[in-house]
Amino acid sequence: QHPIHVIGGGLAGTEAAWQIAQAGCPVILHEMRPLRQSPAHHSEQLAELVCSNSFGAQSSDRASGLLHEELRQLGSIVIAKADQHAVPAGGALAVDRAVFSQDLTATLAQHPLIELSRGEVTHIPPQGIVVLTTGPLTSPALSEDLQRLTGLEYMSFFDAASPIVVGESIDLDTAFKASRYDKGEAAYLNCPMNREQYLQFWRSLCEAEQAPLKDFEQETAKFFEGCLPIEEMARRGEETMRYGPLKPVGLFDARLGDFRDPANKVKKPYAVVQLRQEDKAGQLWNMVGFQTNLRWGEQKRVFRLIPGLATAEFVRMGVMHRNTFINAPELLNAALQFKPRSTLLAAGQLVGTEGYTAAASGGWLAGTNAARLAQGQPLLALPVTTMMGALFDFISSASPKHFQPMPPNFGILPALPQRIKNKQERYGRYRDRALSDLATWARTHHIRLQPSKLVVS
Ligand code: FAD
Repeated sequence: QHPIHVIGGGLAGTEAAWQIAQAGCPVILHEMRPLRQSPAHHSEQLAELVCSNSFGAQSSDRASGLLHEELRQLGSIVIAKADQHAVPAGGALAVDRAVFSQDLTATLAQHPLIELSRGEVTHIPPQGIVVLTTGPLTSPALSEDLQRLTGLEYMSFFDAASPIVVGESIDLDTAFKASRYDKGEAAYLNCPMNREQYLQFWRSLCEAEQAPLKDFEQETAKFFEGCLPIEEMARRGEETMRYGPLKPVGLFDARLGDFRDPANKVKKPYAVVQLRQEDKAGQLWNMVGFQTNLRWGEQKRVFRLIPGLATAEFVRMGVMHRNTFINAPELLNAALQFKPRSTLLAAGQLVGTEGYTAAASGGWLAGTNAARLAQGQPLLALPVTTMMGALFDFISSASPKHFQPMPPNFGILPALPQRIKNKQERYGRYRDRALSDLATWARTHHIRLQPSKLVVS
């Protein structure tokens, strides 16, 4: 049997290699460190946590906690080791990072079907089954080769993303639906400001605290000239945003009548913040032009000053950093298989999921499917009501035009049959549905689930 190649021994690659080997297939896991270091990694261990040592909140009525639980039940090695090496972190699953990575490295090295090959892979092997998991800092040579396969337009090297807000948390008495000059369907939610509200917002934005750029990101910053952070635009002058993304022209709240009618005395808004629909179901809304380097707490504080967003729930904050990712909606299906080459799969930050746990989830699915491909079995996609299934459904079916990486969050799950106002109760219901559907799905596909360790807050 030919070995399956997994390229990149980070969170996703470690999980993928383990799942392949556990399914009985030989696997070669390629990791470039320590022969070639990335700008953010420091060790030679597999599954190094490059920054925080936390996998996010543990409670199963939180998106990260639900994802931990799904992975735990599916037999993830990354979550098993995170549980084993957990340190107290007030409700989060945080680990002793050195012991965690060392243990994973040793565990994989001892597996009879896993060969660990150190060295940079500069070309995607043209034949055989390959899983690409080289992460946000994929080496330049491999990025170039990947571009040949995907086309340059389907790869991104920076993430300049605006915050994403849960639709249910937007005040629809204030925000109105309309497209500029009524072009096409009313596709945007618009938050109107009067002059006073605008000036307060503008001043707060100018004074808000920014997150420092990492050294290797300083150079990247110059690529953002065409895509200024909203706070930088604000600092360039009181009026700049009103001639940019907050332009108030051509946007009419149909509930107030036609502004163009001289008999209508309703004042035009002084500025308007627009939100664009992010998912098929209209549960997620992206703040147009709000790419930002502000600290996350500051983003919440300042953006909640926008009329209509006072109680906004953010599923993703704005970021501007170096991040290599492919345009997954163009290139992948929900089984994480490339459409142009069915023997090539990918997972992790490279496919546009965000965070350690999401990377391990992708590793689980891509690894499981690579082994199934080798064994002639049909590939799996998870139910879209699970957090894992929703994540891979999102990245494979979002709008390719505006595709930006997505962390696990409840906004990507299909809505519940009934509306539940209380957030904790709503998320609890999402969890119950996800775990029940996962159990049914596992029975159908003859997958033995591991014991649950449900954390409830
Ligand atoms: P990685 O874990 O980065 O693994 C990719 C692996 O591929 C690396 O080991 C790399 O050395 C290897 N590799 C790359 N190119 C090649 C090649 N050509 N040949 C062989 N091997 C190669 N997420 C969080 O959840 N919390 C955080 O605090 C956090 N902080 C971050 C800070 C920075 C600076 C960056 C860049 C990212 C951060 N992330 C964080 C996102 C984080 O990268 C992912 O959550 C996670 O590491 C993604 O896992 P991955 O397996 O896709 O990539």
